[in-house]
Amino acid sequence: MDEIQCPFCGTGSCDPYAIHLHIEECHSENASPIKQHGQLAKISKPNSVVDGEGSSRTGNQWAICTRSGCGEYIMLQHMDEHLDVHAALTASEFEAHSFENTEPNSHFDKSTHTNVPFENSGRDQPVSGLASTNRGPSKRTLHLLDYFTGKSVHQRPDSAHYREQMDPGRLGKRELGPHAFEKKMPGDVRERLLDGALPREVNSIGRNHMLIRETIVENETAHVIPVLARLCAADKTNRATYFCHPSVKHIRKIYCDGNFCGYWSIQMLLTFLRSIGSLPHMRQLPNVLQMQDTIEQAWNNNICSYSKTETGGICGTRKWIGTAEAVAYLAQLGIPYHAMGFKNEDEDLAVTALFDYVEAFYLSGIETAKTRGTSHTTELAPIYLQRRGHSMVIIGLERKKNGSRNLMIFDSSFATSSSIKKLINGQPIRASPEALLKTYRRPETSLMRWEEFEVLMPQICGYS
Ligand SMILES: [Zn+2]
Ligand SMILES: [Zn+2]
Ligand SMILES: [Zn+2]
Repeated sequence: MDEIQCPFCGTGSCDPYAIHLHIEECHSENASPIKQHGQLAKISKPNSVVDGEGSSRTGNQWAICTRSGCGEYIMLQHMDEHLDVHAALTASEFEAHSFENTEPNSHFDKSTHTNVPFENSGRDQPVSGLASTNRGPSKRTLHLLDYFTGKSVHQRPDSAHYREQMDPGRLGKRELGPHAFEKKMPGDVRERLLDGALPREVNSIGRNHMLIRETIVENETAHVIPVLARLCAADKTNRATYFCHPSVKHIRKIYCDGNFCGYWSIQMLLTFLRSIGSLPHMRQLPNVLQMQDTIEQAWNNNICSYSKTETGGICGTRKWIGTAEAVAYLAQLGIPYHAMGFKNEDEDLAVTALFDYVEAFYLSGIETAKTRGTSHTTELAPIYLQRRGHSMVIIGLERKKNGSRNLMIFDSSFATSSSIKKLINGQPIRASPEALLKTYRRPETSLMRWEEFEVLMPQICGYS
């Protein structure tokens, strides 16, 4: 292999990993002048070294979000989407704050819960506009399982491009993130993962203003879905909103130098599985390092074992994981699952197929749903959603009267706002539902840029 040089100081090595380490040790954080001045992002160059081709790969430029407390690695061309959610969060906090200051006695419940019409009262009638979408998976819906078992001719998303340069079968930064070639994560990151989300006991004020002792985990928020269901029901432009099981907790990333969104997304699925009793032996959520062990155990048991070659092993690293690793994880726990992929094909957009599928899925749970106005909270599973560079969890779908749709999303990149936390605790706040919901909504139009999605959901008997 040719010698590669550090773009900052010219130090050379034949080992890409050595150069990567060198850059992280000698030139990261304080090295970039952009970070010093820029409000938002610093351009992170190491990838151009490891890929060996530099600036021609503009589609593979990383940025680190420098919003206070965030630090997420994001592909440069996706930064706008990420910042939009930050903006929505800030706006909802700001709005709630100014309302509180001016109208201390106003209460969210009073202002938004009156006069919510229930238009779609006929449960037997299909929601208009959906008839054409109940057709089940279309031909363009490729079954990931075929791929996982080696029967599919389809490539793992976006992998073809980079394979040529790597060891055969080894994925690169595009799929595995900025630390694709890491052998071991830094010690402080490891420590954060170990102790950043330990349960602890606190005294807090409960719903009825009583002092209660409860166990909390810093990065988990329970009871968000019932609040969102109320907010959606208060939105008069909604025709119907379907939610998954209300027990699903929001998990936010642990703040450290690494994304780990695949793990946080799996953890959100676990909160559902634990609440319905599918994981009786799991006393608390596993941490990322434990989850990595479980995934590698699955590989050793021949479940998705090709991932071992593709990733070069994940234990103790910050390599990104995807649907295949999430599948391996669930399979190793003995949880039945269903995984699918959606791809742009001719005129048909992946995003439309995805939305159709999700809408039909949650509509299938409406018989046993708890209905409040236009909001239907089902007992169905949340859905792991993977697109290139990031994973999230679908907790529902919102259909507007004008026919447009939003996915309702739990994104581990963003913390639950203090406004939502107040609503959970029954405290007064009067931000507009619009501002509060924006963080959780992903409009169909905004997701059109993605050519491919993968979904994974636990398939629990009697549930889905
Ligand atoms: Zn250097
Ligand atoms: Zn950010
Ligand atoms: Zn991510």
